[in-house]
Amino acid sequence: MAISTINPFTGQTEQEYEAHDDAEIERRIAAAQSGFEALRSTTFAERAEWMRRAADLLEADVDELGRLITIEMGRPVKASRAEVLKSARGLRYYADNAEQLLAPEALADPSAVGASAAGTRYAPIGVVLAVMPWNYPLWQVLRFAGPALMAGNSGLLKHASNVPQAALYLDTLFERAGFPSGAFGSLLIPAAGVERVLRDPRVKAATLTGSEPAGRSLASIAGDEVKHVVLELGGSDPFIVMPSADLARAAEVGVTARYQNNGQSCIAAKRFIVHADVYDEFTRLFGKQVAALTVGDPLDEATDIGPLATESGRDELRKQVADAVDKGADVLVGGGVPERDGWFFEPTVLAGITPDMRLHLEEAFGPAATVYRVESREEAASVANGTTFGLSSSVWSNDADEQEWFVENIDAGGVFVNGMTASAPELPFGGEKDSGVGRELGAAGIREFCNLKTVWTA
Ligand code: NAP
Repeated sequence: MAISTINPFTGQTEQEYEAHDDAEIERRIAAAQSGFEALRSTTFAERAEWMRRAADLLEADVDELGRLITIEMGRPVKASRAEVLKSARGLRYYADNAEQLLAPEALADPSAVGASAAGTRYAPIGVVLAVMPWNYPLWQVLRFAGPALMAGNSGLLKHASNVPQAALYLDTLFERAGFPSGAFGSLLIPAAGVERVLRDPRVKAATLTGSEPAGRSLASIAGDEVKHVVLELGGSDPFIVMPSADLARAAEVGVTARYQNNGQSCIAAKRFIVHADVYDEFTRLFGKQVAALTVGDPLDEATDIGPLATESGRDELRKQVADAVDKGADVLVGGGVPERDGWFFEPTVLAGITPDMRLHLEEAFGPAATVYRVESREEAASVANGTTFGLSSSVWSNDADEQEWFVENIDAGGVFVNGMTASAPELPFGGEKDSGVGRELGAAGIREFCNLKTVWTA
């Protein structure tokens, strides 16, 4: 794939870039290594000051960046601006909290290990490679870069090939904010160029957010090189609605949970698992609001749903939906590609899903929800856990025992009760099963790329 901005609303190529050649890749890895050497001797206070300045720069550029994101990947512009502001908040969180999250820990009784003092401290590890997706082109990168740089590591970004302008903005952001040169930089390379970078001995670890095949490929190289990886991969999150739930609220939040970002979010609610007692009413409320979503130009402030980011992504969703319809699924809302330019897919709701349908097991990365009718909490959990994914989940119930039961019995990296899954700087984020390994955000996220050093003194 060429490294280019193709506007999903028009299909027109807006910008094209030459991929970096071997000499430029070498120059950038060397710069990242020097950046690390400069950064590791700085203090938390210095890094925090630069990090806050990076947040200020993002906020100052919010309108320009909001437009840029929308033109590169098609999200409604009001949501693109929100991503910019959320990214700035994430950087400030780590500026304010990194020192405390990485504070050394001392053993209360060092004599138990024959020492006068013993404990642990967190040390940076060096250059970390970040392979990132286009769906939140700033937030996905900055939720890695904020903690990594505050811990004293340097970062090298290989961004998705369809968001090069976001990659180039991020390339200079941290140096403009005051960080040492090379502390963070972007590589304009295709996916095929990742292996050479990951095998470079100066690159100590990698994080990838993206699809399962990409994660498996990166992890196998990292395994061969004995390098640490964090993988944030796909999801097919359940959204469970039980009879005691506030149905109106569940339906309203469910629409946002499924259709925000044009349905292209890893933690979107994708499968709505509804108890038979409230199935008809929930489906009616949900379907009515989905049908009322405004589809249109993502630069228009009134638009709820823009085009999908890529033509291939739109075509994949069309095939998944066609497969379900061919095998007998009921189309409650939408179901097809509208008659217009741009890579649009209608906001869609499908019921009558059976295990032989692709949508039953695969991730649907676009505006299509599936609805299941279940008879009990046990059946709800069984359907929820019945995929290879385990990213997050949402449970709607006003029965405290039932809430606790679902928290215990859902196999996922998160359970959100009476709310939709959302990422926040303060809370760890990540999945289990094929949804990934490791965690971003919170305390766990900043500790991922640190050497936990044991220190023992006689
Ligand atoms: P993708 O094709 O896997 O691309 C993601 C990144 O990986 C891009 O930079 C891509 O580069 C690179 N890449 C692709 N194949 C690679 C390989 N074999 N080796 C090394 N790098 C490779 O993902 P996508 O389809 O664009 O993004 C959507 C997926 O990301 C969905 O499955 C979604 O659920 C997942 N996602 C997960 C999270 C999470 O936190 N769990 C968050 C957001 C998205 P090119 O662009 O150059 O191909």
